[in-house]
Amino acid sequence: MMLQSFENFQLPNLQDAYDVVICGGGIAGITLARQLRLNLPKISILVCDRLARPLPEATFKVGESTVEIGAHYFTETLQLKDYIQQYHLPKLGLRYFVGDPQAPFGERPEIGVRNFEIFHSDFTYQLDRGKLENDLRNFNIEAGIDLLENCSIQDVKLTDGEEFHTVIYKKLDTKETQSVKARWVVDATGRRRLLQNKLGLGKANAKNRSAVWFRLDGRVDVSDLVPLTESKWHAQVPNNLRYYSTNHLMGEGYWVWLIPLSSGCTSVGIVASDEVHNFHNYHTYEKACQWLQKHEPALADYLKDRQPKDFMKIPKYSHSSHQVFSQNRWACVGEAAAFVDPLFSPGFDLIFLANSLTTELIKLDLNNKLSQRTVDHANVFYIDTIDQLNLVYENIYALIGKKPITFALQSVWGALVSWSTLSTVSLNSVILDPDRMAKFQPVLAEIYSLAHRVQQLLNDWSDNSSNRLKFEYFDYLGELPFVDEMRSLHVKFNKTDQELINGCKDSLKLLEELAQVIFLLAVEDTMPEKLQNFSQPIWLNAWGISLNPDQWEQDGLFEPKSLPRDLNPVMAPLRKSIYSNYQPYVLEVERETANAGVAVGV
Ligand SMILES: Cc1cc2nc3c(=O)[nH]c(=O)nc-3n(C[C@H](O)[C@H](O)[C@H](O)COP(=O)(O)OP(=O)(O)OC[C@H]3O[C@@H](n4cnc5c(N)ncnc54)[C@H](O)[C@@H]3O)c2cc1C
Repeated sequence: MMLQSFENFQLPNLQDAYDVVICGGGIAGITLARQLRLNLPKISILVCDRLARPLPEATFKVGESTVEIGAHYFTETLQLKDYIQQYHLPKLGLRYFVGDPQAPFGERPEIGVRNFEIFHSDFTYQLDRGKLENDLRNFNIEAGIDLLENCSIQDVKLTDGEEFHTVIYKKLDTKETQSVKARWVVDATGRRRLLQNKLGLGKANAKNRSAVWFRLDGRVDVSDLVPLTESKWHAQVPNNLRYYSTNHLMGEGYWVWLIPLSSGCTSVGIVASDEVHNFHNYHTYEKACQWLQKHEPALADYLKDRQPKDFMKIPKYSHSSHQVFSQNRWACVGEAAAFVDPLFSPGFDLIFLANSLTTELIKLDLNNKLSQRTVDHANVFYIDTIDQLNLVYENIYALIGKKPITFALQSVWGALVSWSTLSTVSLNSVILDPDRMAKFQPVLAEIYSLAHRVQQLLNDWSDNSSNRLKFEYFDYLGELPFVDEMRSLHVKFNKTDQELINGCKDSLKLLEELAQVIFLLAVEDTMPEKLQNFSQPIWLNAWGISLNPDQWEQDGLFEPKSLPRDLNPVMAPLRKSIYSNYQPYVLEVERETANAGVAVGV
């Protein structure tokens, strides 16, 4: 793919009317334009943005790290694989440093993968936003999409019937006000949320969290926080590859990110819950350094005297909407629709969902097939997804900075649930069709109800842990074959619905096993004497698990929903990373291992 220079750029000869006008040419707007062009080559598209190229590299916007769905969106849906691989960095997964932030860095329990081979080429990426947005704007122009830069959208006059909408904008250089007609208007103005504000659709998300971030020249590498003499620590992830992960340094109510960028800079950010950390204690660079000194001293010492290239902040970043799509031919995408939380980097996933639904609605409209039912489905699916994510994040933030073991198991559990639900239905376009989606509802509902049960258990475990179960290094892909298998199964596309439903059912079986294993570990940690209540071989009702023994009978814990299966393929690999100082357990494992492989549970 050729990268264009800016000198050759000329203002487009604008049409009076377009099939689609996209207000805002940030990442959501320009990716939607490309997706529309690839799907509907004949339609006319205009993208308008306040900012003109060249956009600054490295120090442009926040949102640099992709996970599976977002990476798939760039490489497959938008057909940018060669470009992304050539000009951006591969990502070595999500990596977390948990435990006591005041301890020497090398002593903190670590969760992360060890090398790139484990991804079997299904990579995720670290994106330099300035570079990406410059290049995508150029690719769009080459593809015949009109781009109006340096112009600020003032208003959108929406119409009810077949008449086109009017988008009113001001040219920032000449101060002239002009307008253009549009069959479809898409709001991609990010936090400006043009349509949401105009139509009063905004919805606050429950808890407030805030963030600041800055970019530094050169490498900020967690490997530098541990002396080279700690050879065992360095050998866990050879060749300083930790640098390529999105590194999270976690403490109570906060996490700090380190993300490498292809421009050679590193992005550093602080995200904190307002309930635990007052935003004004870290909302300037100077204060952020003081805050880091208090909460993440190893990193603060390492960063001392380095000057940031920028410093940005967003207090209370989470928001949602009551409606994002309309049969009246408007849609909201990206942060103009909703944003939940940056932990686990879901921003591009949500852009993929809203952009794909918008593309489908526009396609149906152009074929005279757009119905209220399809629009309602799109709204319900998108807003429910945001609501679900909100709930999940509330629970996860309650685990952050507390017991390393519960956070480690949550990261595995959360990834498996997400791959077997959202990834499956979104990567295979099921979400675009209410009839197809309905076929998945029964199995998805079972997975979600189990997920809810396990999440509650993890939160209760975290509150009651005796710290009996520990780990030093937890490789969630390389050392847990069942996780790797699930990732390979679900982070795939072009499958038939029956194959997908069968895949979800297989996942449900695995999740049923993992839920029981997590339960047994939780019991071992919090009330080991109760382990004797379970007769071997253990097989329970996963939907009845809890840390309240008085409820076990009533919740049907001892009445499994399925025939017994062996828990060992899930328990044994977990046991390789997790060790226990509960002596009766250790002795039992040693005895059983000597006889017949690693024991399960008690
Ligand atoms: C702290 C934090 C960390 C994050 N980290 C990640 C991450 O690691 N991975 C991830 O996937 N996501 C992440 N996200 C989310 C990610 O940043 C967003 O999903 C993404 O940037 C949203 O893109 P957008 O195009 O909607 O908005 P923007 O990129 O903000 O684009 C909006 C565009 O609209 C233009 N505009 C606004 N108003 C007007 C107007 N009136 N007229 C004309 N143009 C206008 C602006 O100039 C801008 O170009 C993070 C978010 C936060 C808050």
